[in-house]
Amino acid sequence: MRHTSDTPDSLWKPGLRAIPPGLHFVSTPIGAARDITLRALDVLAGADVLVAEDTRTLKHLMEIHGIALAGRPLIAYHDHSGEGPMQRLLGLLNDGKSLAYASEAGTPLISDPGFELARAAAAAGLPMFAAPGPCAAICALTLSGLPSDRFLFAGFAPSAKTARRSFLADLAGVQATLILYESPKRLGNLLADMVATLGGTRQAVVCRELTKRFEEVLRGRLEDLNAAVAAREIKGEIVVLVDRALPVEATEDSITAALDEALETMSVKDAASFVSQTLGVSRKMAYRIALDRSQG
Ligand code: SAM
Repeated sequence: MRHTSDTPDSLWKPGLRAIPPGLHFVSTPIGAARDITLRALDVLAGADVLVAEDTRTLKHLMEIHGIALAGRPLIAYHDHSGEGPMQRLLGLLNDGKSLAYASEAGTPLISDPGFELARAAAAAGLPMFAAPGPCAAICALTLSGLPSDRFLFAGFAPSAKTARRSFLADLAGVQATLILYESPKRLGNLLADMVATLGGTRQAVVCRELTKRFEEVLRGRLEDLNAAVAAREIKGEIVVLVDRALPVEATEDSITAALDEALETMSVKDAASFVSQTLGVSRKMAYRIALDRSQG
């Protein structure tokens, strides 16, 4: 169970408005139970049917806030539940019921189940609502001190090294703050691959255990964070953020130097694609120079 506070919320009183029929996506806390919103509590208290990625977690959260199930169905559902369970939920929505859907923690659909259900409900023209609230990516961006004018949420990087490096190389030239989720076990590998593909000098932030007792925010250049994390044991839930690449005016010398460096660890094709994205130059030209350099 993720919700850490067991204090009943004495401020919450049920809202006066009935919950309209339709699918209600409810965001739940990512650590501190009191981060639930009053509207989320209204929806959980008033919906005809409760649906959850993990029914025990939702039950526990409702208990903390003094919301009774009161004989209402509590159905387990995630994106791999299959067609049968999905049709059952769509049937309930077609019958005019109000359904509250919560994932294990945070905002449904954000590296969490809910997308298939949202897509099916939208395609069927069923009413949908969101009770917005906690999301680790947004919480981390808020604390990071990195530019928030544009950001790209990339979810979890692949766990296999080659796939992860190519995933990161695709993000190298993106002119936005990058936000990734990661497990503590794989954080060291992710940071090492970020240094290799994005360069060691970009500003980055590692947020750990947000809203919880051992919350920690580490800031620094990618190579410094990589060294710091390699030197200690990291536990808990993690968000990694990386500043965008600085736009550089590319010259023939800088393109050649970047390609020579990239060719030390990458194939001609990957090096050309990486440099074309990071320096904003044509892929064809980068490939031609990379080929010359690799043969020369
Ligand atoms: N739906 C959730 C959201 O809105 O943030 C994310 C669910 S995803 C399965 C779980 C991942 O989110 C964790 O592995 C971690 O990367 C990140 N995360 C969730 N809670 C966190 C927290 N309290 N502190 C840091 N990262 C967190």
